[in-house]
Amino acid sequence: MSPSVATPRSSRRPHVNVRRQRRAQAKERQQLAEHIVEHGTTLATQAAAAAALTQARLTDDELQAWRQDLEARLDRVQRNPEQNLGFIEEHLALATKEPLRRLAQRAAQAKANATPCRCPKCQSQLVDQKFLRRHLDSRFGPLELWRGYGRCPHCETWHFPADYALGLGKHAPASPYLQEMAALLVSKMPPEQAVPVAERMGLTLSRCTLDREAHRQGLKAQESRTAALAQLDTVAGLQSLAPQTEGPPSQPFTLVIQIDAWNIRERDHWGQTQKLRAQGETLSRWHWVYVGTVFRLDHRAQTAGNRPVISQRAYAATRLGVEALLRQLYYEALRCGLGQAQDVLVIADGALWIWHAVHDRFPKARQRLDLYHADEHLWAVAHELFGQGTPEARAWVTPLLKRLRQDEVPALIQQLQELQPTLTQALQQKLQTQIDYFADNQKRMHYRAIIRARKAVDKGTATPAQRLKANEPLGSGAIESTCRQYQCRFKRTGQFWSTAGDEALMCLETFWRNGRWHQLYPHATLTSPSLN
Ligand SMILES: [Zn+2]
Repeated sequence: MSPSVATPRSSRRPHVNVRRQRRAQAKERQQLAEHIVEHGTTLATQAAAAAALTQARLTDDELQAWRQDLEARLDRVQRNPEQNLGFIEEHLALATKEPLRRLAQRAAQAKANATPCRCPKCQSQLVDQKFLRRHLDSRFGPLELWRGYGRCPHCETWHFPADYALGLGKHAPASPYLQEMAALLVSKMPPEQAVPVAERMGLTLSRCTLDREAHRQGLKAQESRTAALAQLDTVAGLQSLAPQTEGPPSQPFTLVIQIDAWNIRERDHWGQTQKLRAQGETLSRWHWVYVGTVFRLDHRAQTAGNRPVISQRAYAATRLGVEALLRQLYYEALRCGLGQAQDVLVIADGALWIWHAVHDRFPKARQRLDLYHADEHLWAVAHELFGQGTPEARAWVTPLLKRLRQDEVPALIQQLQELQPTLTQALQQKLQTQIDYFADNQKRMHYRAIIRARKAVDKGTATPAQRLKANEPLGSGAIESTCRQYQCRFKRTGQFWSTAGDEALMCLETFWRNGRWHQLYPHATLTSPSLN
């Protein structure tokens, strides 16, 4: 082989374009390395500055800038005399937000710095301590926080004690105030509606954040509820549930309990429905939500328009079955004074599960069938016999409705039985169902004394006993309105739930209704003392 043979092109000087490209790449690498060093130095500087912070304050320059901003905005207000107070409110709020954000960040940092780097569970000094930054969303906007962390030599777990002290979730950016807002908004309205509402309140919360955070808060509420219900399992716990009253013992009172259920639509088997149906499984998307309410009769009164109002009442609601409802309801009843009540009255519709449950949990309670449900059963017979909405139906049912109000249920049943032989077999069967309904509920149908007492009150001739009696509800309207209120949130068109999702949100809603919001969010009582 001759040495003069030309070397291949690849071993010669590369093409000018390639050289240019290589030079550019080398420069880029150099810049990146410089950036990393610089960024690292900046981060280290930031971390050092954060670690040195012991109190939250604004610098003189920041205060000066704030004052200038305020003055500029007030000037603008003056230059727009046609604008109303809303314009002034918005401008002042905007002027204040950034200084407050800085102060919140610094106060959080100072608190993080003051938090000892100890295990929140066993209080051991953490080892392998390091410093790490995290970003947060707060009432005033995004915050940045540096905090120490380390490993507990006993629990063998890594901890961020400052996050714990500040009330921050492990992997969620929401501050406690935003956690509360997510819980409040999403338990009242669907997240897609809550996003613009939150924005109007000056809070930047994405749909995803709202959804996830509200669920997390619901799980937290469920944990809190489970811990509270554990009081039912010990004697000391049970004793602590009796209401703490000061002064002389109160007058004898009746405790009223109302129970009902409604159904919610769930998507049980995500993506599996068709397969499972093909395998012959019956899948139901409708599931029962069990609801109860408890109140003292002396906390029920009438408005000027004769509408009943209850000043204090407790709620229980769950998708986890009748037993779960009973446990909650028993807890609420004890807190309302079940142990001190002279008398317990349960009102519900004719559903058998309710009466079985009442028999188990409240064996001494008086039972009352909702009068209006009983009416509906009589109307159902009238419509079958004489046609829907006919004058004949009304004429036939009127004396029977009167009998119901005079506690003449045996006579009413007899009248229905006498009717039976004159009917077709199909109608006879339908009528028999209604006869059974009245026979089964006979002992729960006592309305006359209340109606008489109410008449006496109207006439002004009522005895003290009659005045008490007149206040007893004839029906379960209180729980039915409660069901409707829950349904307004949980039973909207096109809504599908998961059991975990609906139970968590329903638990939040029930905390709110029961006046225990402050147990989940102690900070809320600072600006809303009524929540306590
Ligand atoms: Zn530990």
